[in-house]
Amino acid sequence: MSEVKHFKCPSCGAYLEYQPNQQALICPYCANKVDLEAVQPAEQTSVEAKPETYTPGQLKEYHCQSCGAQIVTGDTTAATRCYFCHSPVVLTDRLSGSFKPDWVIPFAIDREQAEQHFSKYLARKRFVDKRVFTREQREMFSGVYYPYWIGEIEGEAALSGDGVRTSSSVQGNYMVTVHRFYHVEREGTLTFRNLFRKALKANDRQLTDGIQPYTLSAMKPFDPAYLSGFLAEMRDVEEQSAAEDMQQEVERYAKPMMMEGVRSENVNGTFSFRPVRTRMRYVLLPAWVLTYQSQGKSYYYLMNAQTGTVCGRLPFNTGKLIGTALAVGAAVAGLLCAGGAFIW
Ligand SMILES: [Zn+2]
Ligand SMILES: [Zn+2]
Repeated sequence: MSEVKHFKCPSCGAYLEYQPNQQALICPYCANKVDLEAVQPAEQTSVEAKPETYTPGQLKEYHCQSCGAQIVTGDTTAATRCYFCHSPVVLTDRLSGSFKPDWVIPFAIDREQAEQHFSKYLARKRFVDKRVFTREQREMFSGVYYPYWIGEIEGEAALSGDGVRTSSSVQGNYMVTVHRFYHVEREGTLTFRNLFRKALKANDRQLTDGIQPYTLSAMKPFDPAYLSGFLAEMRDVEEQSAAEDMQQEVERYAKPMMMEGVRSENVNGTFSFRPVRTRMRYVLLPAWVLTYQSQGKSYYYLMNAQTGTVCGRLPFNTGKLIGTALAVGAAVAGLLCAGGAFIW
């Protein structure tokens, strides 16, 4: 079984790429359109009962099946292009066994739309030094699938203790203070859904947080064909560590939820939250990414390739800044993330 998968055009043999606007695999040479289901049966026959699984840290060479060149990969690369012949390749052993994603949100915004939006974005930023965006840098604009854990945690919460509610009022010449004492006993099941954790250590969390959220209803069962023509990173964060992290997070939410509607101002006693069921799903989410170096600093522009939300840090033109009273405000706004969804 080969660990390198190409999706071939049935009419001319060239390599197919997933096209967001057609939601199908398209041949870049003869424009043949192939549905994902159509490439699957043939591909699956080559996958035997014993899937090869990837061992992290294990050094392994991959070779392009089109030209034979070695495929240049990082530790977490799961889909890329052959540097030599530019064919899209998917490294299937890095997407199998416990590394097989459960779901994927396919790209909805194609390269052309992403580049157009970037040009508009740039035009609106008065203080940005536009000289840094050379044509070559724009060609570095990449469509990348990033790995995430999405969790659902169900737990039993219990709150028990005593509390006081104090109120004062003026009655004639008197200030009347009333203390009401409460004993609180509460128990219940709390369920937290759609908890997110980045599943790639290397990738700056703040960066990808800036383009959340994704619309999870658009998730599809994972199929490697969606990755053809894009880059994809595989996870290097274990399920257990992401789950523990999420459990700690929901514990912080659980107490205020259990306090809702309690009439005393506080409760002194005990509070517990015990997770009874944790369900984790490994998903790949799409983004358009442009990173670049300017005068020793790195900058980036990131777009949610499902919703169009952007986040970026752009180099400012200091010459322009000096000439304007708004300089300080603009410099402070160095980190620019358009919060809301961008509508095309
Ligand atoms: Zn073709
Ligand atoms: Zn090649």
